[in-house]
Amino acid sequence: MLTNRKMDIKYVKGVGQAKAAMLAKLNIFTVGDLLEHYPRRYEDRSQLRPIRSLADNEVQTFQAQVVSVQDSRPRRGLTLTKITVRDETGAAQLVWFNQPYIKKWFKPANDLIITGKVERRYGQVQISHPEIEIIDGADLLHTGRIVPIYPASESIGQRWLRTLIRQALDSCGEAPEFLPPAVIAEYRLMGRQAALTNVHFPADAAALEAARRRLVFEELYLLQCGLLYLKSLNKQEGSGIKHAADGELVRQIEGGLPFTLTADQRAALADIKADMEDTRPMQRLIQGDVGSGKTVLAAIALAKAVASGYQGAMMAPTEILAEQHCHTLSQLLAPHGVRIAVLTGRLTRRTRDEVLDRLKHGLADVVVGTHALIQEDVEFKHLGLVVTDEQHRFGVRQRARLQAKGETPDVLVMTATPIPRTMALTVYGDLDVSVIRQLPPGRKPIKTYSVGSDMRERVYRFIVKEVAAGRQAYVVCPLVEESDKLEAQAATQLYEQLKGTYFKGLACGLVHGKMKSADKDEAMKAFYCGEIQVLVATTVIEVGVNVPNATVMVVEGADRFGLAQLHQLRGRIGRGEHQSYCILLSDNQSADSRERLAIMAQVQDGFELAEKDLTLRGPGQFFGTRQHGMPDLKIADIVKDTSVLLEARRAAQQTVALPERFAGVRPVLSERFGNHFGLIFQS
Ligand code: ADP
Ligand code: MG
Repeated sequence: MLTNRKMDIKYVKGVGQAKAAMLAKLNIFTVGDLLEHYPRRYEDRSQLRPIRSLADNEVQTFQAQVVSVQDSRPRRGLTLTKITVRDETGAAQLVWFNQPYIKKWFKPANDLIITGKVERRYGQVQISHPEIEIIDGADLLHTGRIVPIYPASESIGQRWLRTLIRQALDSCGEAPEFLPPAVIAEYRLMGRQAALTNVHFPADAAALEAARRRLVFEELYLLQCGLLYLKSLNKQEGSGIKHAADGELVRQIEGGLPFTLTADQRAALADIKADMEDTRPMQRLIQGDVGSGKTVLAAIALAKAVASGYQGAMMAPTEILAEQHCHTLSQLLAPHGVRIAVLTGRLTRRTRDEVLDRLKHGLADVVVGTHALIQEDVEFKHLGLVVTDEQHRFGVRQRARLQAKGETPDVLVMTATPIPRTMALTVYGDLDVSVIRQLPPGRKPIKTYSVGSDMRERVYRFIVKEVAAGRQAYVVCPLVEESDKLEAQAATQLYEQLKGTYFKGLACGLVHGKMKSADKDEAMKAFYCGEIQVLVATTVIEVGVNVPNATVMVVEGADRFGLAQLHQLRGRIGRGEHQSYCILLSDNQSADSRERLAIMAQVQDGFELAEKDLTLRGPGQFFGTRQHGMPDLKIADIVKDTSVLLEARRAAQQTVALPERFAGVRPVLSERFGNHFGLIFQS
């Protein structure tokens, strides 16, 4: 029977309704999805070792037969399941703790392929918690070759999946080739059919590598084609606003800054100005470490838009941050006659209506706000520049919605998540990027310490000392993922406790996500003005908050945070002339957690940390594709496949530049990305 790639998986022979539901959990809905369900890893079963020559302390694979299956309970609360297996050369023990159900899966005489870390003790071979597959004799799909191991589940076994994929490969006929022949030739890529076959059932190691390279290339190439095409649409000649060259207003504002810009800031500003004066719309990302001084660039860009007769909007992810930006912009711009408004969720109906009215009639020049800015009824007279701060907190779609409130306004996005360049190409491939690596001069490097909670008392006493010297401090409570409420409770508890003990007599404040916005703002403002000396907080303060007099950041339960997040938190201090201290409290003794905290103590540079975070946690977590509105990657690994990414990007640039070549690829893009990229590929 010939199957069609688009066919619903439930109609495939041997699948049916129930199995289809289980496959759906693995994101397999059609035959095509099944063919793109790539192996997680491979096992070379072409050369299985006999038990006698298994090496100690290494992960190895061998084939053996079940002799006996036993359960025992050496003590209360501990079940030990032991399976004895043997081949012609010897015996081995497979051992599981507290997994009594294992027993039911295996029967004497079952033929097994066993993978695991081999321990040789007193002449015995033992493997704890091995991966096992039951095989039946001389089946060449499952043994005697390089065998694919798939992401599977309790109810979907390797063998079944493997057989199903083999069947789909055989029944689908030749896979259509959709890369342009010129690209295949130039980058020496394996054909699509051969690649699909070999990625699942490799003829040998070389074929596997070529197959994988082809599929990684294909995936990244298509993604890049999508991003670059989106960029070319957004940046069409003559479709944007040509802002005026710097006039009196911009010169005055720049002249009145209380500091001189760093070289990196000047370079980024020059990029911004050139983009704004161009007739193509600006689509620029400013990537700068925490505290590198991005806000001032946004202020100057906004002033430039206003000087050209347009309005500007700046969107921030939290109310605290929006308020703070409003404060900064008011200081920098208002003295020069720029009219500034704020739009957040906490305005009263009346004030909100008033602000909307001013925006609509051009009576406010610059508006700073939260998500409230992208609501339906917000209208502008002539929006000419859109700034998004802390872009990583927004998706592509939210950015697009703010953009849509003007007629192709210039777009500036800022992020303090210093993602490595190759990843920026993938996540922000539709943007031009300026990087600010330098911090303003005179900043003292922050001293970071990772300590156990037995040091807590000393840490608190240290805070008291710093406060006595006129400084301020943050104490951040442990992260409770998925529950703002528990997190808020923990923060309140800690606050009450500290206020009554160590910090008696100090002015303490509390902010958490469950507080009323007004109360939150009040506490933040009081901290900002120095009326509060110690601020107990949850991660609501993570992003952007700027209080230069704060010199201590204590993070409780630091092991629960990612490196990027810790770096953001640490970025709240070290913003002024005084020596700052970041103290990471954690009792987690696991090697992984200790390594991460040790890295924090050593590394200050956000870009370096980002690379480390990426290698430690893998791209999955960091990439957060869904958050960025990007399609998921099925086979490419943007950390390891850097060189293929660069090739794929070059090929995609050539393709998008050649209308005929692009026309050939476009149908594939609409099939893949219909729901992404602001729907430009929806057919
Ligand atoms: P971020 O890039 O994290 O958003 P901010 O824009 O909040 O950083 O700037 C951090 C602090 O550095 C602010 O107090 C700002 O006034 C100050 N700053 C910015 N640029 C400079 C500079 N060139 N020299 C000295 N201080 C600067
Ligand atoms: Mg900022």
